[in-house]
Amino acid sequence: MRIIEMNNVSKTYSNGVNALNNIDILIEKGEFVYVVGPSGAGKSTFIKMIYREELPSSGSIHIQGSDITKLKSKHVPYLRRKIGVVFQDFKLLPKLSVYENIAFALEVIEEPRHIIRKRVMEVLDIVKLKSKARFLPDELSGGEQQRVSIARAIVNDPRVLIADEPTGNLDPDTSWEVMETLETINRSGTTVIMATHNREIVNTIKRRVIVIESGRIVRDELRGSYSYER
Ligand code: ADP
Ligand code: ADP
Repeated sequence: MRIIEMNNVSKTYSNGVNALNNIDILIEKGEFVYVVGPSGAGKSTFIKMIYREELPSSGSIHIQGSDITKLKSKHVPYLRRKIGVVFQDFKLLPKLSVYENIAFALEVIEEPRHIIRKRVMEVLDIVKLKSKARFLPDELSGGEQQRVSIARAIVNDPRVLIADEPTGNLDPDTSWEVMETLETINRSGTTVIMATHNREIVNTIKRRVIVIESGRIVRDELRGSYSYER
Protein backbone atom coordinates (compact mmCIF):
# COMPACT_ATOMS: atom_id res chain seq x y z
CA MET A 1 0.00 0.00 0.00
CA ARG A 2 1.41 3.38 -0.90
CA ILE A 3 1.60 5.98 1.80
CA ILE A 4 3.32 8.92 0.05
CA GLU A 5 3.02 9.86 -3.60
CA MET A 6 4.49 12.99 -5.19
CA ASN A 7 3.62 13.85 -8.77
CA ASN A 8 5.58 16.42 -10.74
CA VAL A 9 6.40 18.44 -7.65
CA SER A 10 8.46 21.61 -8.02
CA LYS A 11 9.33 24.23 -5.45
CA THR A 12 10.57 27.75 -6.04
CA TYR A 13 10.96 29.85 -2.89
CA SER A 14 9.65 33.40 -2.82
CA ASN A 15 13.20 34.73 -3.26
CA GLY A 16 13.38 32.95 -6.62
CA VAL A 17 15.53 30.00 -5.49
CA ASN A 18 14.45 26.90 -7.36
CA ALA A 19 14.85 24.13 -4.76
CA LEU A 20 13.11 21.12 -6.40
CA ASN A 21 12.15 20.22 -9.96
CA ASN A 22 9.63 17.70 -11.26
CA ILE A 23 9.85 15.27 -8.36
CA ASP A 24 7.94 11.99 -8.80
CA ILE A 25 8.11 9.48 -5.98
CA LEU A 26 6.16 6.59 -4.50
CA ILE A 27 6.80 5.40 -0.96
CA GLU A 28 5.11 2.26 0.33
CA LYS A 29 3.80 1.80 3.84
CA GLY A 30 6.52 0.43 6.12
CA GLU A 31 9.49 1.45 3.99
CA PHE A 32 12.70 2.90 5.44
CA VAL A 33 14.05 5.55 3.09
CA TYR A 34 17.29 7.53 3.28
CA VAL A 35 17.40 10.87 1.50
CA VAL A 36 20.98 11.84 0.64
CA GLY A 37 22.77 14.42 -1.49
CA PRO A 38 25.03 17.46 -1.22
CA SER A 39 24.17 20.49 0.92
CA GLY A 40 21.68 22.72 -0.81
CA ALA A 41 20.41 19.87 -3.02
CA GLY A 42 16.83 20.16 -1.76
CA LYS A 43 16.64 17.37 0.86
CA SER A 44 15.09 19.52 3.60
CA THR A 45 12.66 21.08 1.17
CA PHE A 46 11.61 17.59 0.04
CA ILE A 47 11.08 16.50 3.64
CA LYS A 48 9.30 19.68 4.73
CA MET A 49 6.74 19.26 1.96
CA ILE A 50 5.70 15.89 3.39
CA TYR A 51 4.55 17.44 6.67
CA ARG A 52 3.39 20.62 4.97
CA GLU A 53 5.96 22.89 6.52
CA GLU A 54 6.45 24.03 2.90
CA LEU A 55 3.95 23.90 0.04
CA PRO A 56 5.10 23.00 -3.47
CA SER A 57 4.82 25.64 -6.19
CA SER A 58 3.25 23.00 -8.45
CA GLY A 59 2.41 19.32 -8.41
CA SER A 60 0.52 17.11 -5.97
CA ILE A 61 1.49 15.31 -2.76
CA HIS A 62 -0.78 12.52 -1.58
CA ILE A 63 -0.45 11.08 1.92
CA GLN A 64 -2.62 8.00 2.43
CA GLY A 65 -4.61 8.99 -0.62
CA SER A 66 -5.41 12.62 0.15
CA ASP A 67 -3.71 15.57 -1.50
CA ILE A 68 -2.13 17.56 1.32
CA THR A 69 -1.40 20.53 -0.93
CA LYS A 70 -5.15 21.15 -0.95
CA LEU A 71 -5.54 20.83 2.81
CA LYS A 72 -7.10 23.82 4.55
CA SER A 73 -4.78 25.20 7.22
CA LYS A 74 -7.23 24.33 10.00
CA HIS A 75 -6.78 20.67 9.00
CA VAL A 76 -2.98 20.73 9.10
CA PRO A 77 -2.87 19.69 12.80
CA TYR A 78 -4.62 16.41 11.85
CA LEU A 79 -1.94 15.74 9.24
CA ARG A 80 0.76 16.46 11.82
CA ARG A 81 -0.65 13.71 14.01
CA LYS A 82 -0.11 11.23 11.21
CA ILE A 83 3.47 12.42 10.75
CA GLY A 84 6.05 12.61 13.51
CA VAL A 85 9.10 14.79 12.96
CA VAL A 86 12.58 14.58 14.46
CA PHE A 87 15.16 17.34 13.98
CA GLN A 88 18.95 17.47 14.13
CA ASP A 89 18.85 19.80 17.16
CA PHE A 90 16.15 17.83 19.09
CA LYS A 91 13.95 20.89 19.85
CA LEU A 92 13.10 19.71 23.37
CA LEU A 93 11.62 22.19 25.82
CA PRO A 94 14.50 22.78 28.28
CA LYS A 95 12.43 23.49 31.40
CA LEU A 96 10.19 20.44 31.05
CA SER A 97 11.13 16.93 32.12
CA VAL A 98 11.50 14.09 29.65
CA TYR A 99 8.03 12.91 30.66
CA GLU A 100 6.47 16.35 30.21
CA ASN A 101 8.15 16.93 26.86
CA ILE A 102 6.49 13.79 25.54
CA ALA A 103 3.14 14.23 27.33
CA PHE A 104 2.79 17.72 25.89
CA ALA A 105 1.76 16.43 22.45
CA LEU A 106 -1.09 14.46 24.05
CA GLU A 107 -2.15 17.24 26.43
CA VAL A 108 -2.80 19.60 23.53
CA ILE A 109 -5.27 17.10 22.08
CA GLU A 110 -6.82 16.72 25.55
CA GLU A 111 -6.28 13.03 26.08
CA PRO A 112 -7.29 11.87 29.59
CA ARG A 113 -4.48 11.79 32.14
CA HIS A 114 -4.43 8.02 32.59
CA ILE A 115 -4.15 7.50 28.83
CA ILE A 116 -1.35 10.04 28.63
CA ARG A 117 0.53 8.32 31.42
CA LYS A 118 0.19 4.89 29.82
CA ARG A 119 1.19 6.09 26.36
CA VAL A 120 4.19 8.16 27.56
CA MET A 121 5.54 5.18 29.51
CA GLU A 122 5.03 2.96 26.45
CA VAL A 123 7.07 5.20 24.18
CA LEU A 124 9.74 5.70 26.85
CA ASP A 125 10.00 1.93 26.92
CA ILE A 126 10.41 1.80 23.13
CA VAL A 127 13.30 4.31 23.24
CA LYS A 128 14.72 2.64 26.39
CA LEU A 129 14.52 5.71 28.61
CA LYS A 130 11.93 4.77 31.25
CA SER A 131 14.46 5.35 34.01
CA LYS A 132 15.03 8.96 32.84
CA ALA A 133 11.39 10.11 32.82
CA ARG A 134 11.99 12.75 35.49
CA PHE A 135 15.23 14.11 34.07
CA LEU A 136 15.57 17.46 32.32
CA PRO A 137 16.86 17.39 28.74
CA ASP A 138 20.25 18.88 29.64
CA GLU A 139 20.82 16.09 32.16
CA LEU A 140 20.88 13.61 29.26
CA SER A 141 23.48 12.79 26.61
CA GLY A 142 22.88 13.95 23.05
CA GLY A 143 21.84 10.47 21.97
CA GLU A 144 19.37 10.23 24.85
CA GLN A 145 17.94 13.64 24.01
CA GLN A 146 17.43 12.54 20.44
CA ARG A 147 15.66 9.40 21.66
CA VAL A 148 13.35 11.61 23.76
CA SER A 149 12.57 13.63 20.66
CA ILE A 150 11.84 10.37 18.81
CA ALA A 151 9.54 9.31 21.66
CA ARG A 152 7.73 12.63 21.38
CA ALA A 153 7.41 12.21 17.61
CA ILE A 154 5.80 8.75 17.91
CA VAL A 155 3.54 9.36 20.91
CA ASN A 156 0.55 9.98 18.64
CA ASP A 157 1.30 6.72 16.82
CA PRO A 158 2.00 8.39 13.45
CA ARG A 159 1.99 6.49 10.14
CA VAL A 160 5.19 8.23 9.07
CA LEU A 161 8.27 9.29 11.00
CA ILE A 162 10.43 11.94 9.37
CA ALA A 163 13.95 12.56 10.57
CA ASP A 164 15.99 15.46 9.20
CA GLU A 165 19.64 14.63 9.94
CA PRO A 166 18.82 12.98 13.28
CA THR A 167 22.45 12.00 13.91
CA GLY A 168 23.92 15.29 12.68
CA ASN A 169 24.86 16.48 16.19
CA LEU A 170 25.84 13.09 17.60
CA ASP A 171 29.05 11.12 17.92
CA PRO A 172 29.27 7.74 16.14
CA ASP A 173 28.32 5.57 19.15
CA THR A 174 25.19 7.50 20.05
CA SER A 175 24.28 7.73 16.35
CA TRP A 176 24.02 3.94 16.29
CA GLU A 177 21.73 4.00 19.34
CA VAL A 178 19.46 6.42 17.54
CA MET A 179 19.47 4.20 14.44
CA GLU A 180 18.55 1.19 16.55
CA THR A 181 15.57 3.14 17.86
CA LEU A 182 14.48 4.18 14.35
CA GLU A 183 14.79 0.56 13.20
CA THR A 184 12.61 -0.65 16.07
CA ILE A 185 9.95 1.89 15.13
CA ASN A 186 10.17 0.91 11.46
CA ARG A 187 9.80 -2.78 12.34
CA SER A 188 6.51 -1.95 14.08
CA GLY A 189 5.17 -0.77 10.69
CA THR A 190 5.91 2.96 10.74
CA THR A 191 7.30 4.37 7.51
CA VAL A 192 10.62 6.14 8.22
CA ILE A 193 12.12 8.84 6.00
CA MET A 194 15.53 10.09 7.03
CA ALA A 195 17.68 12.79 5.44
CA THR A 196 21.30 12.18 6.34
CA HIS A 197 24.95 12.88 5.61
CA ASN A 198 26.02 9.81 7.57
CA ARG A 199 27.76 7.66 4.98
CA GLU A 200 28.65 4.88 7.40
CA ILE A 201 25.06 4.38 8.53
CA VAL A 202 23.66 4.39 4.99
CA ASN A 203 26.29 1.89 3.82
CA THR A 204 25.86 -0.40 6.83
CA ILE A 205 22.11 -0.50 7.40
CA LYS A 206 21.13 -1.07 3.77
CA ARG A 207 17.81 0.49 2.85
CA ARG A 208 16.21 2.38 0.03
CA VAL A 209 18.32 5.40 -0.89
CA ILE A 210 16.96 8.43 -2.75
CA VAL A 211 19.70 10.73 -4.02
CA ILE A 212 18.78 14.37 -4.64
CA GLU A 213 21.13 16.66 -6.55
CA SER A 214 20.33 20.20 -7.68
CA GLY A 215 16.65 19.71 -6.94
CA ARG A 216 16.21 16.46 -8.85
CA ILE A 217 16.07 12.80 -7.88
CA VAL A 218 19.11 11.39 -9.65
CA ARG A 219 19.05 7.91 -8.13
CA ASP A 220 16.55 5.74 -6.25
CA GLU A 221 17.71 2.27 -5.22
CA LEU A 222 16.05 -0.29 -2.97
CA ARG A 223 19.26 -1.37 -1.28
CA GLY A 224 21.38 1.62 -2.09
CA SER A 225 24.62 3.10 -0.90
CA TYR A 226 25.66 6.57 0.11
CA SER A 227 27.91 7.68 -2.74
CA TYR A 228 26.49 10.47 -4.84
CA GLU A 229 29.69 11.91 -6.27
CA ARG A 230 30.14 10.82 -9.87
P1 ADP B 1 19.44 20.54 1.65
O1 ADP B 1 18.52 20.13 2.74
O2 ADP B 1 19.72 19.46 0.66
O3 ADP B 1 20.70 21.20 2.15
P2 ADP B 1 17.48 22.64 1.16
O4 ADP B 1 16.21 22.01 0.81
O5 ADP B 1 17.67 23.16 2.54
O6 ADP B 1 18.68 21.66 0.77
O7 ADP B 1 17.76 23.84 0.17
C1 ADP B 1 17.60 23.77 -1.25
C2 ADP B 1 17.79 25.15 -1.84
O8 ADP B 1 16.73 25.99 -1.43
C3 ADP B 1 19.06 25.84 -1.39
O9 ADP B 1 19.53 26.64 -2.47
C4 ADP B 1 18.59 26.73 -0.26
O10 ADP B 1 19.43 27.84 -0.10
C5 ADP B 1 17.21 27.11 -0.70
N1 ADP B 1 16.28 27.35 0.42
C6 ADP B 1 15.99 26.52 1.43
N2 ADP B 1 15.06 27.04 2.26
C7 ADP B 1 14.78 28.26 1.74
C8 ADP B 1 13.89 29.30 2.14
N3 ADP B 1 13.11 29.21 3.22
N4 ADP B 1 13.86 30.42 1.38
C9 ADP B 1 14.62 30.52 0.29
N5 ADP B 1 15.47 29.58 -0.14
C10 ADP B 1 15.55 28.46 0.57
P1 ADP C 1 10.80 27.04 13.18
O1 ADP C 1 9.62 27.81 13.64
O2 ADP C 1 12.07 27.82 13.12
O3 ADP C 1 10.53 26.27 11.91
P2 ADP C 1 10.38 25.52 15.64
O4 ADP C 1 11.28 25.69 16.79
O5 ADP C 1 9.06 26.15 15.66
O6 ADP C 1 11.14 25.90 14.27
O7 ADP C 1 10.25 23.92 15.43
C1 ADP C 1 9.05 23.25 15.30
C2 ADP C 1 8.65 23.18 13.86
O8 ADP C 1 8.31 21.86 13.48
C3 ADP C 1 7.41 24.01 13.65
O9 ADP C 1 7.61 24.85 12.54
C4 ADP C 1 6.32 23.02 13.37
O10 ADP C 1 5.40 23.52 12.44
C5 ADP C 1 7.10 21.88 12.78
N1 ADP C 1 6.41 20.58 12.85
C6 ADP C 1 5.56 20.16 11.92
N2 ADP C 1 5.08 18.99 12.17
C7 ADP C 1 5.62 18.58 13.32
C8 ADP C 1 5.49 17.40 14.08
N3 ADP C 1 4.67 16.41 13.73
N4 ADP C 1 6.21 17.28 15.19
C9 ADP C 1 7.02 18.29 15.55
N5 ADP C 1 7.17 19.43 14.87
C10 ADP C 1 6.48 19.59 13.75
